[in-house]
Amino acid sequence: MPELRKDPITGRWVIIASDRPKRPEDFLKYEAPEMIGKCPFEPGHEEMTPPEILAFRDKETAANKPGWTVRVVPNRHPALRVEGELDRRGEGMFDLMNGIGAHEIIIETPDHDLKLEDQPPEGIAAVLRAYRERSHDLRKDARFKYILIFRNHGEPAGAMLQHPHSQLMAMPVVPKRVQEEINGAKQYFKMRERCVFCDMIREELAARKRVVLENEGFVVLAPFASRFPFETWVLPKKHSGDFAAMDDAAILVCARAFKEALKRTTQVLTDPPYNFVIHTSPLQENEDELHWHAEIIPRLTRVAGFEWGTGFYINPTPPEEAADFLRSAQP
Ligand code: ZN
Repeated sequence: MPELRKDPITGRWVIIASDRPKRPEDFLKYEAPEMIGKCPFEPGHEEMTPPEILAFRDKETAANKPGWTVRVVPNRHPALRVEGELDRRGEGMFDLMNGIGAHEIIIETPDHDLKLEDQPPEGIAAVLRAYRERSHDLRKDARFKYILIFRNHGEPAGAMLQHPHSQLMAMPVVPKRVQEEINGAKQYFKMRERCVFCDMIREELAARKRVVLENEGFVVLAPFASRFPFETWVLPKKHSGDFAAMDDAAILVCARAFKEALKRTTQVLTDPPYNFVIHTSPLQENEDELHWHAEIIPRLTRVAGFEWGTGFYINPTPPEEAADFLRSAQP
């Protein structure tokens, strides 16, 4: 059973995957023997994954057989496990609990070579609908406080398998980074009685220096204090705290903004490794405090000693220039 341990100094939680202890030699490059030459996410290989949790498939086809367009399965090597109790406890001054959570893989397409951004908007919308459906289902579980959806593209960004997929983790604590955003938004609201994200969107749309693109529902911008070169955020223009509250029409508009943001990023930077994460409100809490958004982070620089030591980032590309490059791309 993995454990969640709390750093008593900063309050940060860490997942200690104690059921798969890695020895020094295990950190050398590793390829699971069963994976070589056989992609577990392809149609016809359904038996290589745990049984599906959700699939959008042809009505004539059976579960765990070909005929699907989007398929959600549990991670075969989950960082957190669904079964069991949290069992919050102390060990002297230290706090810990069992590593309870859900870790799911969203297989975005049956086509091994079809990148997310090359899918038609309807295909991307189906992936977003799968995120939404899983979020709705998992929030019924009172043990979970947060659902993080993220995507790793390319090996330097942490993708172990090339087949286009994203991941979802439901967890029993609110991650520190999300909590910091909530605290910041709360503080701003106390001062001004307005949402800091809504104000930022208004300001950026007026100035047009860092806006990459805009459609009827969403704006994509390079944030004022971007941590990383070509970092962009995708935000709904109308205030909403909950990603999973989008209806199908909003999801399609969101998918179009996503597609264009990713297309421009991959064109300007020639298919860079990247991560995206969706920051939405915690479960079972006041969901108006955060303004949900997705952060797209191309992995172009390495986080090194200075960043680890300070929590500062050195960004060699001013966001105004990044936005210029991204705007002038012709995807
Ligand atoms: Zn807002």
